[in-house]
Amino acid sequence: MKQDIRKLTAVQLKDWLVQNGEQGFRSKQIHEWLWKKSALSFGQMTNLSLPMRELLGAHFEIRPLTVDQQQRSSDGTIKSSFRLFDGNLVEGVLIPALRRGDRSAGAGPHDDRDAGPTNRTAGPRMTACVSSQVGCSLTCKFCATGYMDRKRNLDAAEIYDQVVAIDRQARENYDAPLSNIVYMGMGEPLLNYKNVLESVDRITSADGLGMSPKRITVSTAGIARMIRQLGDDAVKFNLALSLHAANDTKRDQIMPINESNTLAAIGDALTYFYQKTGTRITFEYILFYDFNDSLQDAQELWKFTKRVPAKIHIIEYNPIAEANFTNTDPQTLDRFADFLADKGVTINVRRSRGKDIDAACGQLAGKQ
Ligand code: SF4
Repeated sequence: MKQDIRKLTAVQLKDWLVQNGEQGFRSKQIHEWLWKKSALSFGQMTNLSLPMRELLGAHFEIRPLTVDQQQRSSDGTIKSSFRLFDGNLVEGVLIPALRRGDRSAGAGPHDDRDAGPTNRTAGPRMTACVSSQVGCSLTCKFCATGYMDRKRNLDAAEIYDQVVAIDRQARENYDAPLSNIVYMGMGEPLLNYKNVLESVDRITSADGLGMSPKRITVSTAGIARMIRQLGDDAVKFNLALSLHAANDTKRDQIMPINESNTLAAIGDALTYFYQKTGTRITFEYILFYDFNDSLQDAQELWKFTKRVPAKIHIIEYNPIAEANFTNTDPQTLDRFADFLADKGVTINVRRSRGKDIDAACGQLAGKQ
């Protein structure tokens, strides 16, 4: 099997070129084709000589990511299943902003107010939600992906390629580039730590997409050790915790990872992360009917989140066939949100997007 050329760093590629009698500076040109221009074949690299393109083709391959299926919602959301080079499928979603001024616009877990200046902010908000693993090992009870086996981690190029493909969809359908990225699709990003960070480096690099890290949010189910590692690595992107219950008994029931990463451990890790990075934490909370939607739950949520500068996203649930959870009713949601607002918490209610398509994470890929 030929080697995936995008696994080589620019320095490694340069060394390889020199060892094979070529000029090292070609490495920069090749990298530009691979990342900035997302070339799908060596034949496209027209500023390289034909012998060099043939040499590269004899030793390396560019592993493709292709759109397998696409669903469009009446609200503008576009969901894609992407086929990887080995036949596996993952999902990615383009979430265009709703009408101007709608606070629930874009399903990403952070607002534009958080972000620094970027040349991608002039137009409407276009959020890409990307996957980090094929399947997931964490078996969250409310999530379609949680009912699949985890097959493997995505490499950095496979994550990057989803972003490029969704950016293209945004430009073609809405005449606007991506403005935000959330790692909130299939998989637990912090269990694919190295590749996720490498993909962020690529997305933010001037040699890649040149996006601001403040436009990127990595969402975790709560791996305390790796949250601390993010702090030690002083990452610049945003961190979101999929909380969904703020007491261990309830959280154990819906998120088995909580048994080994208790709320106390996660809370300490988040405090550490904040001390190291100074970045406000986003807490995601799906309000399930008659499970976590009481005022007692709101009180526990407030207590848990107030340890760090935070905002809370209350997210409408996309029901799945595998589980019996449903959304809370509007009155209960208002009461819950009002309680938190009265405490001075920054909250944001996120309406579900793409209800008329397979909107829940893992539904489209799981079908196949
Ligand atoms: S919610 Fe996230 S971490 Fe939990 S099973 Fe689904 S993809 Fe995995």
